[in-house]
Amino acid sequence: MPDFQAFGESQQDAPDKLFTVPALKLPKSLKHKGLLLANIGQLLTLRLGSVRPGPRRGPDLKQLSIIQDGAVLCVAGKIVSVGKTRDALRDPWLKKNRKKVTEIDCTGKVVLPGLVDSHTHPAFVNPRLVDFEKRIEGASYEEIAAAGGGIRSSCESVQNASKATLAEKVLSALHDMAAYGTTTVEAKSGYGLTLESELSSLEAINAAASRWPGTVVPTLLGAHVVPKEFQGCSQKYVEIVCKEMIPPAARRKLAQFVDVFCDKGAFTPDETEQIFEAARQYELSVRAHMGQLSETTLAPFLRFDPASFDHMDHVNQNDLAQLAKGDTVATLVPGANYFLGLKDYPDARRLIDAGVPVALATDYNPGTSPTLSMPMAMSLACTHMKMSPAETVAATTINGAWALRMAARKGSIEPGKDADLAVFGITDYREIPYWFGANHCELTVLNGVIQRHR
Ligand SMILES: [Zn+2]
Repeated sequence: MPDFQAFGESQQDAPDKLFTVPALKLPKSLKHKGLLLANIGQLLTLRLGSVRPGPRRGPDLKQLSIIQDGAVLCVAGKIVSVGKTRDALRDPWLKKNRKKVTEIDCTGKVVLPGLVDSHTHPAFVNPRLVDFEKRIEGASYEEIAAAGGGIRSSCESVQNASKATLAEKVLSALHDMAAYGTTTVEAKSGYGLTLESELSSLEAINAAASRWPGTVVPTLLGAHVVPKEFQGCSQKYVEIVCKEMIPPAARRKLAQFVDVFCDKGAFTPDETEQIFEAARQYELSVRAHMGQLSETTLAPFLRFDPASFDHMDHVNQNDLAQLAKGDTVATLVPGANYFLGLKDYPDARRLIDAGVPVALATDYNPGTSPTLSMPMAMSLACTHMKMSPAETVAATTINGAWALRMAARKGSIEPGKDADLAVFGITDYREIPYWFGANHCELTVLNGVIQRHR
């Protein structure tokens, strides 16, 4: 293995940390057997250490706290101890309980926190191949819609699909995501656009989540686009979102967040504030698609304490200082820029250098970003947004967790956090964005459950 000092950005990272297991009693059931990952070449802990608390920003975004020749012990779905393999093997508790612990020899590979995909739209039925082909031919948005493509084609098929079919589609996506190292997924509705179909989409997401060992955070995106029948009277649809969709979604605990697509051609800032107000009334947190097509002044929304503003291709200079002071994360989704063949990408350096916390996500959806791969998002962020490999790791783990308000449980490898890990068959973490288009994830641990992918 290369010397610890050789990993450029990790030089100030974690010194050796002693591996100690507190007095533990392993429950008898097989489900709660201990799990030890040992001989990890690079263990990217992202522990808090010397960085400032809160979402990682500025220079803290590249502090990965790497332990060489590391080991992690998990029990009952939680991380119990983290340190060097040699200290783990000397630990008296582990010596005594070795037989009750499943041991995985990582043979010098890289282990990082399970990736957190904090922006996905998995509740759809069909790929949008008409859009894809027509766009390549240079067709406009209107021409694509006329040819039977566009977002409304997704809505039609979702409205006609059974809940079981939709749940199967979501579950299949979750399994595929885990194969790329993702263990926590935010999943939006938004292709229903009627009360019945939006609630049914959320039910499908929840049903899929109950059959997947990872963690799913459901989001109501009733305000995705203004449905055709409400063109010119969008206020009527906003009222349906506020008065008919949000109350049952909250009461039945079908969603944790309410999202709005606030942009030119979608919902206005005023309408977004109305929807945020309704969400607050029902104690749901908020997030929004912002600045994908045009600039929107963000400051007025900060009173709702949004967990995240997503896309952020266009950001007003005056908003940067405000965002740098708060915990609202800017979630960048370069897969959409790539798939639409855009020349410009979100200006990640401007945001990071201003102190705005930045996360990366796939924006998995059938129209503009049909990718499940967080490593692909990392690679695009390196090559098109000038983020360093280390920054992309923090942006897809701990800051993704912050973007979902789950940083107390997710996003780093520290005792007490959920046992969410990804093992990549490489010897240097920088290979994750480097080998673009390839998947080197070999194994994921989702809330303590092992899934092997090769
Ligand atoms: Zn989106």
